[in-house]
Amino acid sequence: GGFDHEGIDYMFKVVMIGDSGVGKSQLLNRFVRNDFHMNSKATIGVEFLTKTVLMDHKLVKAQIWDTAGQERYQAITTAYYRGATGALLAYDITNRHSFNHIEKWLDELHRHADKNIVVMLVGNKSDLSSIRQVPTEEAEDLAKQKGLFFVETSALDSNNVEPAFLGLLSHIYTRVS
Ligand code: GDP
Ligand code: MG
Repeated sequence: GGFDHEGIDYMFKVVMIGDSGVGKSQLLNRFVRNDFHMNSKATIGVEFLTKTVLMDHKLVKAQIWDTAGQERYQAITTAYYRGATGALLAYDITNRHSFNHIEKWLDELHRHADKNIVVMLVGNKSDLSSIRQVPTEEAEDLAKQKGLFFVETSALDSNNVEPAFLGLLSHIYTRVS
């Protein structure tokens, strides 16, 4: 790669999208800081967090953008999506509405983002499977139909959070390298 800054070979912009309350900010908090807040509805308070990972002997810096709650008002701007090579599209497995809105989020992506953007569909809050409203198989079927990668996660107990982000980054890497 030709990205000659602090030894970084590649820089990938990733955007977090999905309904309000599904756990986007806490997924990012878990991945970047290994931290979680149960009562924090507040967002991280910055536009993005970064994390650098080693992939195939290359240093890949992920710049991961989080919303400040604009998704509640369908007010995410085009600038948010500009230059993004990946999207982590999250729903809450205990909230059927958040899953029903996946198509709306894909439309939004196709309107505003690069058409080759890599999308990881994430069913979050797997720790709450006793009150699940979305069967895993149903999400797997949707992912297959739409050409998305898919995993269920828990930002609370960390389950699959690293594989979700690292999987997304490695699929982007495969596409650009
Ligand atoms: P966002 O609006 O999509 O950014 O959602 P947040 O990250 O702010 O999370 C919304 C609420 O869900 C907060 O109360 C979080 O603590 C909670 N939450 C987030 N992820 C999980 C999870 O994996 N399991 C459980 N049980 N709660 C979660
Ligand atoms: Mg948030």
